[in-house]
Amino acid sequence: MGFEVIAEGVWVFRSRFADMLSTLVQLDGGRAALVDPPMFADEAEGLKRFARERELSVDFLVLTHAHGDHIYGVAHFPDALVLAQSRFWEYWREIEATDRGFFSRFLPDYRIPEVRCPHLLLAHGSRMRFQRELVFTHVPGHSPDGLMIELPTEGIWIAGDTVLRIPFISSGERTELLMTLRALGERFRGKAIVPGHGRVLRGEEARRLLAENIHYLERLGPEVERAVRDGGGLEEAVAIPLTRFGIPEEAVGGLAAWIHRENLKKVYEELSGR
Ligand SMILES: [Zn+2]
Repeated sequence: MGFEVIAEGVWVFRSRFADMLSTLVQLDGGRAALVDPPMFADEAEGLKRFARERELSVDFLVLTHAHGDHIYGVAHFPDALVLAQSRFWEYWREIEATDRGFFSRFLPDYRIPEVRCPHLLLAHGSRMRFQRELVFTHVPGHSPDGLMIELPTEGIWIAGDTVLRIPFISSGERTELLMTLRALGERFRGKAIVPGHGRVLRGEEARRLLAENIHYLERLGPEVERAVRDGGGLEEAVAIPLTRFGIPEEAVGGLAAWIHRENLKKVYEELSGR
């Protein structure tokens, strides 16, 4: 498991599951917070060893949203205090069966752990201050409980699946995700964005990705509308190629083409009232 230093005391790890990113943040001399723990036991072990070697104890887990790949790893850190957005638990109860179904089909050999209610559910604007300060922002759209972790001093945003190479409406809302991304695009003056999957984006590149995310979501509606107007149904709508949006199909650990079809399906249902 490789790691990347993105600021002093801030490391990003990439999981073999769809390039999911976990971020380890040193808070003071001996304490650290881990954002989105990896779901596989060996990866979690590697991360714990990494922290131990730096005399850090992973005292806090922060979950960017209630989707299995970002939360199943909590089971590997039984002693940590778990933080999530205030809508996390209610949303998780709603989608738990679907989420477990998805991962048992996608990773048949993976033993899905039980998910418990986090210890702390955070309101928009909550802060945690040690030697380093963390700010928690509500970023709904990919899911209703989206939580972004900002390191204001370092100009780093840990954005979860709110920012990906291709926006993923998933169980969220297209218009809500668009509003969230527009607000982030206007506000970003920082150094780096850690997306939910893929790789860390810096400066101009991060700004460009936000702009591309917004552009994709703005075009999705009109493209599906046109397909439907031309007499097409769901089949025609989901056939709108991803290349038309300038996004490579192999992005997001190979999931981009699938995410795009899911987005098209969702927008088709929204626009046709089905
Ligand atoms: Zn997600």
